[in-house]
Amino acid sequence: MLEKFERYPLTFGPTHIEKLERLTAHLGGEVELYAKREDCNSGLAFGGNKLRKLEYIVPDAIASGADTLVSIGGVQSNHTRMVAATAARIGFKCRLVQESWVPHEDAVYDRVGNILLSRVMGADVELVDEGFDIGIRESWENALKDVEAKGGKPYPIPAGASVHKYGGLGYVGFAEEVRAQEKELGFKFDYIVVCTVTGSTHAGMLVGFAADGRARNVIGIDASATPAQTKAQVLDIAQKTAALVELGRAIEEDDVVLNEDYAYPVYGVPSQETKEAIRLCARLEGMITDPVYEGKSMQGMIDLVKKGFFPEGSNVLYAHLGGVPAINGYSYAFRNG
Ligand code: PLP
Repeated sequence: MLEKFERYPLTFGPTHIEKLERLTAHLGGEVELYAKREDCNSGLAFGGNKLRKLEYIVPDAIASGADTLVSIGGVQSNHTRMVAATAARIGFKCRLVQESWVPHEDAVYDRVGNILLSRVMGADVELVDEGFDIGIRESWENALKDVEAKGGKPYPIPAGASVHKYGGLGYVGFAEEVRAQEKELGFKFDYIVVCTVTGSTHAGMLVGFAADGRARNVIGIDASATPAQTKAQVLDIAQKTAALVELGRAIEEDDVVLNEDYAYPVYGVPSQETKEAIRLCARLEGMITDPVYEGKSMQGMIDLVKKGFFPEGSNVLYAHLGGVPAINGYSYAFRNG
């Protein structure tokens, strides 16, 4: 589906799929759990899901004649870290708007983890006191104008690289990659569990898996705590991406499966249960998930196994999308281990 689109390689290649043997056994062994390690997909600043998206956006940025990538996220945004790394790799400047999306306890929250890495990579980081919103933001539009006013040529990348004409393509590629890996493994995944916030990861997967009738087997776990907006954004991106890749089949509202049960209390703040899931996965598998995104989807997957949501014998693929650097901003949350 993606042959006609130009791709600028930022990742190592297909990501590893591994069985979560001890977590599977711990949860009773009736559902087989696997992880696809998007968190280890690149040598660029610890990698993560945004790089698959940016691979299809960078050719457009270069062709536009721009010299500065301009993007936005929360203070501990993984996405803006990935944009900073991509800008460094392609020789662009980088302007980042980091909004106050998350109430936090740690005194060093705005100095460690993702934002530290973005600063080290040379991004021009601007802190803006605005709350959480996955939509198009005035602060970002102002940054675009400011780059222009200073003589630069900005290339706009919205939050999560989602509401961008090519934002959904990378995760269409994920589905195609999984299909090829399934041939080697000799079985198919019955469900794919993915953390959803700005929407293009889920949307791309949905389009990619719709090609073999598995759109509704992609189980989005909302981490935005604004699920109506997230769900609408997933649907919109999926429909536009389906048209772009000429899927030949309509994407409908019911194709977007988004579980809203694990995003509490708010975006960016881990619940007691999220922290327990992070610890459990870390202690059984040595696999680290973060308090904002993957910890919530891990909590969701564990709970859904316990509740019997997945029929006995199911093979479930957890998409580990990255995000671990943010845990440095949560030392208080784990001060007792
Ligand atoms: N997981 C991690 C680690 C992320 O950084 C993000 C980004 O928002 C997500 C999941 C959610 O992906 P999306 O924004 O494409 O819904």
